[in-house]
Amino acid sequence: MRLRVRRSAYEQMLAHAREEAPRECVGLLMGGAGRVEVALPLENVSQTPHRAYRADPGELLRALRKADEIGLDVLAVYHSHPVGPALPSLRDRAEAVWDTLYVIIGAAISEVRVFRLPQGEEVELDVCE
Ligand SMILES: [Zn+2]
Repeated sequence: MRLRVRRSAYEQMLAHAREEAPRECVGLLMGGAGRVEVALPLENVSQTPHRAYRADPGELLRALRKADEIGLDVLAVYHSHPVGPALPSLRDRAEAVWDTLYVIIGAAISEVRVFRLPQGEEVELDVCE
């Protein structure tokens, strides 16, 4: 099991993490046939955005509808840890209610890891052209 991500989408996601720091960023990775084609940034509306993320519910709903319309699947949810490692926090595990993969971008932006949550099993990330 691995998550394949087109390089342009990967770079988009990292750019979003850089822009939002020191706040956590959040967004969706969408594509088809097991490969991510686009990163969709969402607004982090958490009350404590420096250590938690919550996607804006209205924006999230519109993104899901749009994805459905154009035939894209949500393959992963991403968020960043501007001051921590790319490992799921206790909160990340507790709040992982979606049946999807969770991508975490660490403080060193190049540290990106993928997990199936709440179980915590790590999934290989494959950035492709
Ligand atoms: Zn987290």
